[in-house]
Amino acid sequence: MAKIKHPKSGVYEPERCWVGDTHKICYKTREEAEMAARVAEYDHHIEGHLSVYKCEYGDHYHLSSN
Ligand SMILES: [Zn+2]
Repeated sequence: MAKIKHPKSGVYEPERCWVGDTHKICYKTREEAEMAARVAEYDHHIEGHLSVYKCEYGDHYHLSSN
């Protein structure tokens, strides 16, 4: 019997949210955001430091270049 069922049934919530005019990626944990920040700094040769802050609209974190 073949069971064809979408693993992600239900509503798909993209892990992003609007912050001001920017569509920001959400990170579930501070650790995850910190890791993404380090990768972004390396990949994009960002001078300075990306900081992690908790979103005021949900239980997740975002990166800020300020
Ligand atoms: Zn958010």
